[in-house]
Amino acid sequence: MADDNYLKTTTMPETDRKCPNCGGTLTYDAKSGEMFCSLCGKHKSITDSPFRKETVESIPYDPNVTQPTTGWGEKIKLLTCANCGAEVIHGATQISGSCPFCGSTNISAAAETDGIMAPNGILPFAIDEKKARQMFSNYLFGLRHAPKGLKDCSLDSITPLYLPYWVFKAYTVSHYELDVGFLDDENRIYYRKCKGYYRKKFDEVPVCASSKVLNSQIDELKNFNFYSTVPYTPEYMAGYYAERYSTTLYYGWESAQENIEEKLKGEIEADERAYQKGSVSCHNLNFTTEYSDIKYRYIIAPVYLASFTFRGKKFDVAINGKTGEIACNPPSTLWIRRLLFVLLLVTIAVIIFLIVCKCLI
Ligand SMILES: [Zn+2]
Ligand SMILES: [Zn+2]
Repeated sequence: MADDNYLKTTTMPETDRKCPNCGGTLTYDAKSGEMFCSLCGKHKSITDSPFRKETVESIPYDPNVTQPTTGWGEKIKLLTCANCGAEVIHGATQISGSCPFCGSTNISAAAETDGIMAPNGILPFAIDEKKARQMFSNYLFGLRHAPKGLKDCSLDSITPLYLPYWVFKAYTVSHYELDVGFLDDENRIYYRKCKGYYRKKFDEVPVCASSKVLNSQIDELKNFNFYSTVPYTPEYMAGYYAERYSTTLYYGWESAQENIEEKLKGEIEADERAYQKGSVSCHNLNFTTEYSDIKYRYIIAPVYLASFTFRGKKFDVAINGKTGEIACNPPSTLWIRRLLFVLLLVTIAVIIFLIVCKCLI
């Protein structure tokens, strides 16, 4: 595949991040969606960035391409955490702090970053840290079955991070056969073998390429609206880390196919049932799917990784940086209530048993 299929931009001069007002460093401000100087309060629009593209183009998928060209629009640093193994990327001019996953400062920069593909789309942070903290407090306040004192908790730490996603689109044609059940005159079920084909276009099949965020958290946070992705431009990364994709494009597509075929399974059965008037069930579905015009976008999406402490125990929290949705497994008193309910039932059963025994004596 030609290199043209990957995003290319010229290297951004490091001085472009300088505040035109006071010479301070501009960073991306989620609240305003603009560049912001924390020294003098100056805002600078991103829409007039010379690196901004009009659209987020989908790239034809070629499984043979393993070494994409880079196009971060600026010099980047790849940092590896010696404690947890996380690999994160940020601008070369940014000061390396601590690992966004485990907080360790034992991180080292890789010498070579040329093989790291740049995203072609980004969902910029839309809520700032202050609002994310507030939304977490609201979340705790709205919890049912919260133990005493939980609603007064606040986040100990909070780190913004862009997570990597492969987002695929493809046309599919599935050839299938299955057994469709009907009822005979005596209401007994009998099956008829049916064959057919099913066409479907998939526009938005996201696969998270992160290995560090827990799957359960990703499932809760994946409600990113990838249709609202904007073209990647380095300004959105100013002051933020991005996790390097650890699932390759190849394995991303393998995973996307599993998701697609799971969806197709339900749709083919429903479609055939709707077509076969009077059918009551179906089973033994077998199908093979051909894919064509497979394309993908590499998109980075915003999350806040955070934690809070309750009664000496630490709880991990992930907050969708676009919508404020919260993924968390907070302590709950629900199990205590259930246990009390079961004990109540047992007590009532024992009392009834004793009364019946007394009556019989
Ligand atoms: Zn300034
Ligand atoms: Zn770490």
